[in-house]
Parts: sequence; C-alpha cells; structure tokens
Amino acid sequence: MVELTTLSKYPFLNASKKYVKDNNILIEEILEDPLYERARLIGVERLDNAFKKSEVGNRSFASETDHLMELLSYPIARMIAVCIDDNFFKRRYAHAESLHAHKHLINEKTPFLLNVSKEFKLNVKQSQDTNKLSIYFIDYLRNAPTRYKEWKMINREVNNGYINITPKDLARLIQEALRNRINNELDNKKCNKNVNKIFSNDIKRIYNTVIMHRKKTEAVPIGKLDTKKLPPCMKEILSSIQAGENVPHMGRFALVAFLNSLKLNSNEILKLFSRAPDFEEERTRYQIEHITGDISSTKYTPPGCEKMRTYGICPSEKIDDLCKKTRHPLSYYKVRWKQEKK
Ligand code: SF4
Repeated sequence: MVELTTLSKYPFLNASKKYVKDNNILIEEILEDPLYERARLIGVERLDNAFKKSEVGNRSFASETDHLMELLSYPIARMIAVCIDDNFFKRRYAHAESLHAHKHLINEKTPFLLNVSKEFKLNVKQSQDTNKLSIYFIDYLRNAPTRYKEWKMINREVNNGYINITPKDLARLIQEALRNRINNELDNKKCNKNVNKIFSNDIKRIYNTVIMHRKKTEAVPIGKLDTKKLPPCMKEILSSIQAGENVPHMGRFALVAFLNSLKLNSNEILKLFSRAPDFEEERTRYQIEHITGDISSTKYTPPGCEKMRTYGICPSEKIDDLCKKTRHPLSYYKVRWKQEKK
C-alpha cells in the first residue's frame, strides 16, 4: 500500500483514487462537508498559483490530515478548471500540475519511476546487467520536449528501437505524459453543476483574470504583424505554441524565421512566444536569437511550402485556395496584404 504522504505528492496516481474509494470519501462530501473545507481552499489555491506562478505551489504538512487535504485538493482543482472553461487556462493549469509532479519525481528512486511510467503506459526497460534505462522510441517521441537540443533523437543513443535515458530523463518524460493526460481529461470533461454553483465566485474571478491577462498581452503591438493574414501553417504553429502544445523544433524554426522575414525583431517574436503556458524566457530567447542571427553568424530564411510539407508542418486539411497557388508562406502573407489594399 502506498503511503498517504506519497499520494499527496502524486494525487494523479491510481493508488490515490483507490485510497479515496477505500476510505469511502464521496465526491459530495469533498464538495460540501465542512470537514473538507481546507481541501477546497487548497484546490482554489492550486489554480491561482498555476495562473500566477505556473506552479500549483507547496504547502507544509504537520499531520496526516494535511496530506489528505492536499490529496483531495487535486480533484477539486481539476473540476473547477473544467468549469472555468478557457483553453489557455486549462493548458496553464495542466502545465503547472505536471511541473509540480516533476519537482518530486526527480528525487525518486528508479523503481518508483518505473512504476509510475507503467501507469502512463510508457514502454520503459531496465537492463538486468547495467541497470540502465531505455524507452521505446514512439513513447519517447510522444513525450520528449524535442524542441530542446539535448532531447533531439540525433543526440540520443538508440538500440533496437529503444532510446537510452537516465532516471532524470524518465522523470521529465512522465511530466510530459502527465501534462498530456490532464489536457485530454480537462478537454473531455463537462462542468459539474454542483461545482459550478459552489465555486461560482472563484470561477468568475479566475475567468476574469484570464480574460484581463489576454487583453493585456493582445494589446501589445507586435511589429506590423497582422495575425489574421498568416497562412494556415503559421497560424497552426503559433496557436499550438500559445496553447503550450509540444511543437517540434522545425515548426518553431519555421515560425521564427518567417516572422523575422516580416521584419519582426527577436523581442517582438519573444512576445508572441511569451503567451505560452510553459514559456521559459532564457531558453526561448536563445533559440530565437540563434535563428534571427542576433547571436549566430547566420540569419536563417523560412522554408517554402514544399519543405514545410516534407517536415509535416503544412496542415493539409486546412489549406485554402490561396495555398494552392502559393509556393512559399511569405508569398501567401504578401498576397493577403495586397488583397486588402485593393
Ligand atoms: S501550402 Fe504553404 S502556405 Fe499554405 S499552409 Fe501549406 S506551407 Fe503554409
């Protein structure tokens, strides 16, 4: 049996659900019983912290009750997040929960990580001779943040379809798998009427904060860029980045080079990326400045449509009539400009 102290760190585990069930704690009680008021307060705190600090926050634990409240605050936060019903917020919350789990996971021993990876159906093997870990390449590609150099396949050792990883890597891959899982769950769950009623003030307050934040960032002028005129490929990459989805390196590269060709400088491009829930300023700035030539000897040019198709970043289901006559995303954008002037 997994200890309550562990479950409060990893409330998403099956063992956590089992604990709640075995102790006959009903959802109605969690939502309304004065006994669980602290869990409800922490649930709201998780969401506030997720939005303000991109982390659900740490609390101090003096007793078993503290751990129980922490554990129960997780399903509460998730139910409220569904009712807030804003994609940007949901992505941000999923990112914050996964980051919080990762902070604990990096301190865990390998057998624990292997057990957690099984829950996420990650095909991970441990060599009996060397104890080294490896993960099936499909699971690696699905979860690795390949936009970073050290995660690119080219920089990894591969044996018979398995990629060698360290326990630290496994913790990071679980983080990403958790983030994807929470994103899917939040997208597919409906707002519970009771939750909507009990937390109506917090739901309204957080929703309004999110809208204010969006207005503030959207009001920032970004060079001469008119996002409505962007070709479908660039719109798709930009919205995926801003939703915190795992965009492959080539997608990020194409977007930065494209925007730079439209005379947006590194700071202006950084502003667009800063709307992502998992924005890391230092790393993103480095990547952008490398492509724009600010810190490298080459100013890269954006790929044409044929290359975009080869890299799988031309969304064939979204191309329009103009795309059919265009050979380069830049030409698409320029034609849209000219069409408006006429
Ligand atoms: S056809 Fe070209 S411009 Fe249109 S979406 Fe594909 S890559 Fe972009």
